[in-house]
Amino acid sequence: MAQVTLRKVVKMYDETPAVRGIDLDIADKEFIVLVGPSGCGKSTTLRMIAGLEEITGGEIAIGGDVVNDVPPKDRDIAMVFQNYALYPHMSVFENMSFGLRLKKVARDEIRRRVNDAARILDITELLERKPKQLSGGQRQRVAMGRAIVRDPKVFLFDEPLSNLDAKLRVQMRTEIKKVHQKVRTTTVYVTHDQIEAMTLADRVVVMNGGVIEQVGAPNDLYHTPQTKFVAGFIGSPAMNFIACRLEEAAGALRARLSDTLSLPVPASRTARYKPHVGKSSLLVGLRPEHIREEPRHPEPDLHLFEVMLDVTEPMGMETLVYFTIEGTEICGRVNPNAGAADGAKMRLAAELANMHLIDDSTGKVL
Ligand code: ADP
Repeated sequence: MAQVTLRKVVKMYDETPAVRGIDLDIADKEFIVLVGPSGCGKSTTLRMIAGLEEITGGEIAIGGDVVNDVPPKDRDIAMVFQNYALYPHMSVFENMSFGLRLKKVARDEIRRRVNDAARILDITELLERKPKQLSGGQRQRVAMGRAIVRDPKVFLFDEPLSNLDAKLRVQMRTEIKKVHQKVRTTTVYVTHDQIEAMTLADRVVVMNGGVIEQVGAPNDLYHTPQTKFVAGFIGSPAMNFIACRLEEAAGALRARLSDTLSLPVPASRTARYKPHVGKSSLLVGLRPEHIREEPRHPEPDLHLFEVMLDVTEPMGMETLVYFTIEGTEICGRVNPNAGAADGAKMRLAAELANMHLIDDSTGKVL
């Protein structure tokens, strides 16, 4: 087991930067997920850790040793990809033990390690089968088994679930988490799916355009995003961003969204937001769950307002409601029994304790 350190790591493809100098400290036993939109540099980063891509600048260390010039096979890492590349003519046992046989590990030791891994993954019954006799989820387990038996310092996962159907993906996500709880191997996992990132990671690394936007525990990223990009990327449906002007009256601040709607800023934010009064590039950020039906009993820091709903989307446990403020479509989440209907008026409550104020000219959350 080992920690992984990236120092000012750069990757250029010809003249084009794919990774622009990232720093990251991954602790021993930690489960780190790199997440971001397509093309943000997450696979390149993973492949540089694996040694499959040369790094253009900076330093990568595994277990304290700089590995810049160490070939992949000597880095003591195991990779699981989206196409599991199992050998079709070999049994599950043979697939899982192949790497160990190449390394001339003793037969008893191989048997012990494969059996242990099979037990962890609950595939003991499948050891004699060929890959074509397995379901997608079972193949995924075998691919993980092949990584586990090698007992590497680090597991690297590159979108391992993207070939599975939605239901299986959710199931395998839980499996991967359980496996990590058992083996505790330091893991770096790449996905474009923010829900996968949130559910699996000890810490999530959000990447965008070759840089790290923010690193944090899932709930910290969700509740205290530092940039508009992270605020909008994490969470589904996405956070609403509404253009506003900050106004000050009698020592209190209000965020004005339209001629008829202004939201009172909680007093605890006054000092922090006051320098931004009058700026023209401000946005209020409010997650859909912080725009809900009027509660039965009064609550602090709620602002009630009435809207005309454009569309409603019943989801079962909640209903999504859409309305427009000054041309911006806003999404709220209300109780399915709250009486929301397409084209109907509804009184809603904005939870201002959970508002964010963003400077759209810098992309920073204030
Ligand atoms: P992600 O995994 O986040 O989708 P990648 O790390 O694969 O992104 O790619 C980052 C950027 O580098 C993209 O702009 C991509 O087009 C570019 N890129 C990736 N691999 C190569 C390559 N072999 N040659 C040239 N450009 C590449």
